This record gives sequence, C-alpha cells and structure tokens, in this order.
Amino acid sequence: MRKLSILGSTGSIGKQTLEVVRKASGDFTIEALTCGSDIDTLFEQIKEFRPKVCSVVDPDKASELSGKLRDSGIKIEVLTGKEGNITCATLDSCDTVVGAIVGFAGLEPVYHAVLSGKDIALANKETLVAGGDVIMPLIREKGVMMLPIDSEHSAIWQCLKGERRDDLDRILITASGGPFRGKSRSDMERVTVEDALHHPTWNMGGKITIDSATMMNKGLEIIEAHHLYGIECDRIDVVVHPQSVIHSMIRLKDGSVLAQMGKPSMVLPIEVALYYPERGPSIVTEFDPFDAAMSCLTFEPCDTEVFRLVRLAYEAGKVGGLIPTVMNAANESAVRAFLAGRIGFLDIERTVFETVEKMSPSVSSISLTLESICQTDKEARFFADEIINGNIIK
Ligand code: NAD
Ligand code: MG
Repeated sequence: MRKLSILGSTGSIGKQTLEVVRKASGDFTIEALTCGSDIDTLFEQIKEFRPKVCSVVDPDKASELSGKLRDSGIKIEVLTGKEGNITCATLDSCDTVVGAIVGFAGLEPVYHAVLSGKDIALANKETLVAGGDVIMPLIREKGVMMLPIDSEHSAIWQCLKGERRDDLDRILITASGGPFRGKSRSDMERVTVEDALHHPTWNMGGKITIDSATMMNKGLEIIEAHHLYGIECDRIDVVVHPQSVIHSMIRLKDGSVLAQMGKPSMVLPIEVALYYPERGPSIVTEFDPFDAAMSCLTFEPCDTEVFRLVRLAYEAGKVGGLIPTVMNAANESAVRAFLAGRIGFLDIERTVFETVEKMSPSVSSISLTLESICQTDKEARFFADEIINGNIIK
C-alpha cells in the first residue's frame, strides 16, 4: 500500500490522482494534500480522504480553510507557504509524493521529498526541465523511484520495461499538434485565449493547455525524456499524431518499434505510476480497437518553422546547464501574461526567445545547484516580465 502526499491536489492531475485512489478501494492512503489557493476543492477533498496534514500556499486562504475545518469539527493541521509544501512532501508517514503542482514551484518540494527518501510520481515536467540535472542524480543517490505520470513518458517507460538501455536507438514522442495544428503564423497572430484553451483531445489545466497550443509542451517533454531516460535530445523525434491514441514509441537498435496505446486520459498513466511494479485494476473504459477513432491513425512531422518553441527547446536541451531553466521561466511568465490578456499568442514565443538570447551568455558559466537554478529562475522571470511590460528599449 502506497502512502501518498499529493502536491497540487486541486488541479487536473491532482483530482485524477484522487479518482484513482477512490477507485482503488484501500490500496492507497492519503497523508497530505496541498494546493495554491483553491480551498473549496481542498475542503471537499479533506472531508473525503482525511489526510493528516494539508497546505495552502496563500496564507489568507490557509487561515480561511482552518476556520472552515474548525467549524466542521475536522481536526487537521493546516500549513502555508512554500514551507508548507515542503513539510507535506517530507512527512515521515508518507512514502510516495505525487508531483502535480504546475510550474517551477514544484521543484523545491520534489527535491526535498527525494532528499528524505520518498518515491516520486511526477506529472510536473517543469521540475525536470529546470532541475533534472540535480533531481536525477539525487534519485539515484537515494535509491528512490522516479515514476513518470506524463502520458508520453509513461508510454516510453512501459515500452522500455524489459529492454536493455543500450538497445534503445530513438524515442518517438507523439504530440496531438494542439488546437493550431496546420495553422500559419499569420493565423496565429490573431488567436484568442479562448481559441488557445480549446484543446482537441486533452482536458488539462490552463498552463499546459497553452503550452500545447504553442507546442512548448512538446519541447518541455523532450527535455523531460532526456532526463528520465538518459538519452540525448537529438535522439528524440516529435511525431504529430492528432488522434492521441499512441502515447509514444521507442525504436530499438534492431529496428523494432514498440508503442503504448490507449484513450487520451491521464487516469491510466497515474494508475500505472502508483501501482508500479504491479498492475492495478481496470478503472478506465476498455480499449476498443474497432472504435471509430482507431480506423484512422495518422502521423506527420512537427513544423518547427511554425512552432518555433520546439526548435528552441531542442537547442536548450542540447546546451543544457541553466538554459532550460531560463527558457522554462520565461515561458511561465509569458503564458501567465497571455492568459491574463496582456500579450498576444505569438508574444509568448517572442518573450521566450528574447529572454533566452539575452540571458544565455551570463548563465553559461554558472555551476548547477538547486540554489543557482532557483536564482536563475527568478532572474529570468524578472527579465521576461520586463519584456512583457515593454520596459526594455530594443
Ligand atoms: P492545474 O493548473 O490544473 O493544477 C495545478 C495545481 O497546482 C493546483 O492544485 C494548484 O492549486 C497547485 N499549485 C499551483 N501553484 C502551487 C504552489 N506554488 N504550491 C502548491 N500548489 C500549487 O495543472 P495540471 O494540468 O494538473 O498540471 C500539473 C502539472 O502536471 C503540470 O506541470 C503539467 O505540465 C503536468 N501535466 C498535466 C497533465 C494534464 O493532463 N493536466 C498531463 C501531463 C502533465
Ligand atoms: Mg504529455
């Protein structure tokens, strides 16, 4: 039985993790739940799953939740701030931490969880993009498990089971193509927030949905796969597959290609991670090879002239060091500004390119530590915000 702390339990992945727990009838216990500010959802989750501790980043919301819980007669410790997440990630009673926070904010709690010997079930790809070079060696040093949740990485992981790493030739990471597949750059100049939030196959949180529209999500996933599977970025190919049935493929050195298939749902990859190395019960609707969607599975290359952030991510992943941290931070700032209606869709890309270009020389000689990663993240956000606010004279 795994004893879970779920970081970011009120989000899309957090809720689906609790759906797995709900259907798993006693295979998991919930030790801690955390969120940013959505205390109404957290309150309902606490009533149902009765964790020992919870944490809300926003201190006002944390005290509001404490009051609600007191009035309902529920005794539970309510923590707050960054420290609250770290305490929940390192609880003695928990053995597995689900990293479902969105963005760089997930890195420090996951780092501390690994340090204190927890297995990590990770959805939060930004943690590996920015911190893969410190997290993965620590995972090995501590002898804990990194259980991927991101669907492509779960697919790759499942295909790799039983294969020798030396036999892996290439990874073929699939992408739906997002809502703007086939559009030109001039089409994309005019798209709205609503258009960009309308994903054709996946229902996810706001930030990753925008990342799917710019295809930065695939760029982040290339770097995520590089860290998880120790493979160079230029041995990872992006394959646009709009039906999202094949979740990724691996090619072995003899030319064999293995794929993992399923409906586009995160419930299964979450279940695979939580039950590893066993297989859990069937809780998703059964795969039907005669389903209409199955009659036409198509594959096309990714147009990196249109979706330029994919190209940038390849370059950032190859150079490594703090460049992926800068790229990720600038992207987070730009996506937030786009969602707030402050910049246009293609300004996301412009902000990220410009931040990476300007900061690359200064970060190239800094050695990689958790501290230097956090400091660089902060500086890159500041820089990107300046670009967004139009404060930089070009
Ligand atoms: P979401 O926006 O729906 O949820 C994010 C969660 O993080 C919420 O519970 C929010 O309260 C919490 N949060 C935000 N800032 C926090 C902070 N500083 N401390 C603690 N909690 C904080 O996001 P999501 O779609 O569930 O995505 C979560 C992560 O999983 C992202 O990194 C995303 O890329 C990855 N992922 C998501 C999906 C998906 O289908 N949603 C698929 C693959 C990977
Ligand atoms: Mg994915």
